[in-house]
Amino acid sequence: MRYAMAIDTKKCVGCSDCVVACQTENNVPIGYCRDWVVESVSGSYPSLEIEIRSERCNHCDNPPCVRCCPTGASHVVEGGIVLVSPKKCIGCGACIQSCPYDARYSHPEGYVDKCTFCIHRVEKGQKPACVAVCPTKCMYFGDLEDPNSDVSKALKNRRYKTLAPEAGTKPQIFFLI
Ligand code: SF4
Ligand code: SF4
Ligand code: SF4
Repeated sequence: MRYAMAIDTKKCVGCSDCVVACQTENNVPIGYCRDWVVESVSGSYPSLEIEIRSERCNHCDNPPCVRCCPTGASHVVEGGIVLVSPKKCIGCGACIQSCPYDARYSHPEGYVDKCTFCIHRVEKGQKPACVAVCPTKCMYFGDLEDPNSDVSKALKNRRYKTLAPEAGTKPQIFFLI
């Protein structure tokens, strides 16, 4: 079992419904977010291209945030999902510094928070909130080791990339390009 997500940059319209859905589903405090939308422009005028990406924690296979955590609060569970135990977290921020994707934030209640791949929904057989709500259906979630999962099928016939692969964290969010 290896949970992952594929996100189609050609279908994402940057509406931020995924951001609002996540904030609502996960009681993210006002002013903070676990996912966010990036609009990246490349080329030169008049041949400009825009890529729109919904980004979040990459649930990396080689996560520096877990290695550097002094208390074991940051940990990996079955399926490769990287989580934080609020009760074990002392809010030192080492994990925030170590993440190349700026995927974590300091929760006002004194611990660090980030995307959980909506494990509470996945365990019930539901899709993550951001995936479920996307109006263009541009996000695919599932088990990479299952060839029939949504994510495996999405990756099968398309080119894709990960963000900052040079950081060596082995990110598990794949952007279809
Ligand atoms: Fe850790 Fe950042 Fe990778 Fe998420 S994206 S697993 S917070 S290093
Ligand atoms: Fe671990 Fe919390 Fe420190 Fe992050 S802030 S490294 S989760 S104790
Ligand atoms: Fe938020 Fe869940 Fe989507 Fe992660 S998987 S960004 S926690 S809605």
